[in-house]
Order: sequence, then C-alpha cells, then structure tokens
Amino acid sequence: MTKAGYDAIIIKGSSENPVWLEITENGVRFHSAESLWGLDTYQTEDRVRQLVAEKNPNHPKAGVIVIGPAGENKVAFSVVENDYWRSAGRTGVGAVMGSKNIKAIAFWGSRKKDVADKKIVTEFARKIARRGKDDAGVKAYKNMGTPMLVKIMNEAGGFPTRYWQKGTYENWERISADALHEQCYVKPHACLKCFMACGRLSTVKEGRHAGLKIEGPEYETIYSFGGLCEIDSIEEIMYLNDICDRLGMDTISAGNLIAFTIEASRQQKIPLTIDYGYVDAIAKLLEDIAFRRGIGDILAKGIITAAKEWSMEDQAIHVKGLEPAGYDPRVLKGMGLAYGTSDRGACHLRATFYKPELSGMVDPDQIKGKAAIFTEWEDRLTLFDALIVCRFYRDLYQWEELATIIEGTTGLRLTKDDMRSIASSITNNTRRFNLREGLTSKDDHLPSRFHNEALESGKVITREQMSQLLKEYYQARRWNNKGIPLPE
Ligand code: SF4
Repeated sequence: MTKAGYDAIIIKGSSENPVWLEITENGVRFHSAESLWGLDTYQTEDRVRQLVAEKNPNHPKAGVIVIGPAGENKVAFSVVENDYWRSAGRTGVGAVMGSKNIKAIAFWGSRKKDVADKKIVTEFARKIARRGKDDAGVKAYKNMGTPMLVKIMNEAGGFPTRYWQKGTYENWERISADALHEQCYVKPHACLKCFMACGRLSTVKEGRHAGLKIEGPEYETIYSFGGLCEIDSIEEIMYLNDICDRLGMDTISAGNLIAFTIEASRQQKIPLTIDYGYVDAIAKLLEDIAFRRGIGDILAKGIITAAKEWSMEDQAIHVKGLEPAGYDPRVLKGMGLAYGTSDRGACHLRATFYKPELSGMVDPDQIKGKAAIFTEWEDRLTLFDALIVCRFYRDLYQWEELATIIEGTTGLRLTKDDMRSIASSITNNTRRFNLREGLTSKDDHLPSRFHNEALESGKVITREQMSQLLKEYYQARRWNNKGIPLPE
C-alpha cells in the first residue's frame, strides 16, 4: 500500500459484479473477478499476483489482500488475508469485502514513505535492534512463537478447554510449542524488517498430513481447536487451521462455534453427529459454514443467532457477539474487563492485558485499582494500533519510545499526557459510535457462566468483581455510570 503511495483507502458502495482492484501510484483499476469467484484464498492471491506480473513485468511483486469463499458468502466471521496466512481476523471484515463484491485488492508501485526526521528514525531502529538482542521476551517469541502460551496458560489453569468448562487440558503437551517443534519442520518467519520473527513456518513431518505447510498454528488457533474442541494433535490442528485459512475464516470464532455445536449435539438440540476430538466432522462443518450448507448456514450468522436458534443463550460464550480469545477471565480477571469493554467485543488485543497478568506485573486476582492500570495499557496499545505497530513490541516501546517514533515520523513532539489524551479520544469516539449503533453498558458484562461455573481450581469472576472493575473503568475513562463518555 505504501509503495502505491497510500496510507489508507476507503471504499464506498459496492460493485454489481465481482471485481478485483489494482491500486498503483497511477490510480485505481477495476477488473472483473468472475474467473476468481469461488477460488480459495491461496489460489486467489497467486492468480492476482500473476495477472499483475503479466502486465507489468518490470515491477516487483504486488502485495495482495483477498477473501475466500467465506467472505464471498458473507460469513459473519470471515477474514481478509494476505501472504497466504496473515489475517485481519476478527469481526467479519471478509464479509464486508464480500458484500462489496470485491474478491481481491492488489497494490504495487515504487513510492517510499517519507519521514519527518530520518536521523531520529534510523538511530531509534538501531537502538531497539540492539536492545532486542538481549530481551528475554524477544528470544521467547523467536524460539517458540505464540504456541509457548499453551504451557503458560495451562499451568495458570486458564487454558479454555471443552467449550469453557475447564481451564486445563490433560493432553496439552501434545499441542504445545515443543510438540510443534518436534513433530514439524519449523522455521521462524518474520514480517518485513522485524527481528522478533514470531511466525512459525511449519511443515508436517509424518502421518496423514505429511507435507502440509502453514505459517502457524498460532496460540489462539491451538486454544480454539485444541482446547475448546479437544483436538489432541498439533498436526490435526494445523489441518483445521489450513482449512480456515483457505476458506478465509477466523479460527478463534470458528473453534468456538464448533465447540458450541458439539455441546448442542451432545444435548440433542440439533440432529448432527459431532463430538470433542472428531476432526473429520469438524473439517466438514467448517466447509458447510463457508458454503452455508445445513447447520453451517446457522453458524455462518454467528454465535448470537446460533444460540437463539438452539435455545442455548445461557451457554453461549461471547461479548457483543464476539467470542473471547484463549485467556479465561475467571483466572485473569483483567482480561474479564478487557472482554467486557473492548470496542469490538470479547477481544484480547486492544489492551493485551494477559501480558502483565501472566508475567506477575499485576496480580491476576486483583480487582480494586486494576482498572487504572488497565486503562494505561489500553491507551498505550491504542496508540500501537493508530501507528500500526506490532503488539509484541509492547515491552520495548514504552511511552518514551512511542514519543520518539511519533517525533521521527511526523515531527510532532508529544508528552505522555498528550499521547494519553489522543488515545482516550480514540477510545471515547469508538465508544460513542457503539452507543449510537445501539449498544449500552449492559453489553459490557460477561456471559453468566463465568460467574456461575467454577473452573477446576474453584475460580470464578463474581458479578460484584466485574461490576467493580467496570465502575472503576468508567471512572478512569471519565464516562458516566451508564458508560457514556462525558464531553471532552
Ligand atoms: S512484526 Fe510482530 S507479528 Fe510480525 S513477525 Fe514480528 S513480532 Fe511477529
């Protein structure tokens, strides 16, 4: 996108017929995508890149974002993908592209992004790279990637298992980072210019999926298929990961919905034979969701619809229609606040508060005073999003480093207070948007199962604890007791 000379694009309206867009420094071209419609994400990316290269042999490879069949069929949790395995994963952005009849967007060109002060940027990059060499967190991500969290979360007793009935999984070692590195050929893989290289390019060594190659699986996919659906094989999780990637579906929502369907089947709410660990039945159901066949059509509409349809609202685990990531809020109470208040539902990313709670920086059981600490994390990480900076640099980029990044790239000199005030206003405006669209403070609460059903350790997050967290959060954000931001 940068090489084409853009920071962002806005697409209004929709096309009557399927198209793909080619965006360059010379403008935007609309091409028919009739021949691409129905292709999976990998095939689409290859084909679009090839079409661009045929017409522009002297230009470097185009960057391409695509949707798969799930996005075409407007599945509520379909994704936009690039580089085969990288996904804009949550909340169904693939369905937005699908509703506009856009199958792919290719960017190419030779522009470079200008920065306000090259010296500051270069020196900063050197300094951070030097610091990164000795950083324990950087080393852990490079050596193990996000799958390292399987062991950590299981030991903490908050690894969501058997559709949120348990916080530990007896077969966790079969789906851990060690299992992945022993049973597959794994190479660290990095985004452009990143020295952390948390990605795992993994190829299955043996068995029915020998030769299967994906970038992953990430922790969240391992938790959703391994923990929630009790798939006790890293290779089989990779197989399901690959299916989701090809179809263009979010693995967190997919694993949650499948585990929910397993419960519906066990309770004889639906005429479907599926159970924990049934990999092939799960694989088939994923296809049925993407192509909206049978029960798959109900699941394609998302957790709220499926729960209503099967009279299982009291069992469905979601906030604002989004299923949580792999951190049980009965153990990590700050994650309960994150799931409750994150603007897009039970999302782990806006504040990534599992990090301070797991690393001992903050007591996971602390309630009083936690919202103020949480709000500062959320503000800092909101700026990460605004700057488009990877969250895994959260230990390396504190406020001071963010100030340097902003000064080097834009020329603005900002204090911590200035930055927090910008971040707050982003959060407040997003909140106003949500309120305008009909959400209320009632939607900031957690599913009652987290209050009523204890984990093996006996842990719950009580209603009173959640209410206290929310009360303090509203105060820290300067929202009234109904969760409405006061005028700034
Ligand atoms: S930029 Fe982030 S996601 Fe990409 S490889 Fe580096 S640490 Fe991983």
